[in-house]
Amino acid sequence: MFRLLIYCACFFLGSLGIFAYIEGENILGLIDFFAIALLLSILILMDRILPLNWAIGISCWLYLASLYYLYVSGSARNQSFLWYYSVPVVFNFLMGRKKGLAMSLILWSLSLLTYLLRARLPFFTTYPDGFVMRILSSHLLLIILMYIYEYSRELTSRKLVITNKELREKAIRDGLTGLYNRRYMDEIWAILNRQPGKNDKCLAFIMLDIDYFKLYNDTYGHQKGDDVLIEIARTLKGLIRRESDHIFRYGGEEFAVLLYGTTSEKAVEKTQDIIQKVAELNIPHNQSPLGKVTVSAGCQIQSFSQTIEGDVIILKADKCLYEAKRQGKNRSIICREP
Ligand code: GH3
Ligand code: MG
Ligand code: MG
Repeated sequence: MFRLLIYCACFFLGSLGIFAYIEGENILGLIDFFAIALLLSILILMDRILPLNWAIGISCWLYLASLYYLYVSGSARNQSFLWYYSVPVVFNFLMGRKKGLAMSLILWSLSLLTYLLRARLPFFTTYPDGFVMRILSSHLLLIILMYIYEYSRELTSRKLVITNKELREKAIRDGLTGLYNRRYMDEIWAILNRQPGKNDKCLAFIMLDIDYFKLYNDTYGHQKGDDVLIEIARTLKGLIRRESDHIFRYGGEEFAVLLYGTTSEKAVEKTQDIIQKVAELNIPHNQSPLGKVTVSAGCQIQSFSQTIEGDVIILKADKCLYEAKRQGKNRSIICREP
């Protein structure tokens, strides 16, 4: 962007330079072409040694100095001073709100001071009565308006960032339990594949399904069923606390837990903890042979040396879960792969 701006400035300065020569303002034309040379050198240096913020800083100071020169010299029949109106816009754009304001005010104060001391400054040109004060007052107004505009733009864009974050959170979370949803689970496989995993650690994916949940809903009602889902989600949140681990609501009464960078032993321990802690909630379920709400789990453990293929891992964990259901529910089946 800065590069583009420099090219535009060179084009403008070139046109103004030619114009100045046509009008017989040779010094002004020379300054214009000198400025072009300086800007181009900044661009060349920028590619080699000059950091971008330095290049911007130098260009802004050059801009300030050249405008001040136009002002004191009264070039182009005292009309060049009108370029002052570009100052707040250019400085704001290049240096941001605060530094842009400071630079604009430096030029403004310097110009006012020069005007007030004009009697003692022989190099200062003579402007028509009231002209300088009129331009300086309107210039100050423009500086203030530019600052307010930039400030409100920043506020709006900050609000936009917050709203975007909130929307993103809503898009990846399940409304009932607050857990991550299936959509986020699909995204996470791609993220994990980009992360380097430690080879001595592994990844565990646990699929969970509430036992006899249809019967629970039929007996106690859908609302009570929702309360159970919330309660189980809370239990999972209490057990899975590492930042690298994730809990998802996979579907209706199915949850999934992803343990990233764990050991085989810890994954087995966590899976059994989940089964036990849900049973310990002691939520009555008189239609279940177990008398309370329970869950079954299928856990797939694999090392980081294998590629992480979400679909395959889910399928394998699901098979284990099916086996846990087949063997009588309220239990876990663990599958390990080297
Ligand atoms: P199993 O022990 O084999 O898992 O049997 P199940 O009854 O739990 O499984 P099934 O798949 O037959 O029924 C799942 C039930 O989960 C059916 C549906 O009413 C219930 N369910 C799904 N989503 C929600 C939800 O958001 N809220 C409530 N309250 N119930 C839900
Ligand atoms: Mg199910
Ligand atoms: Mg079920």
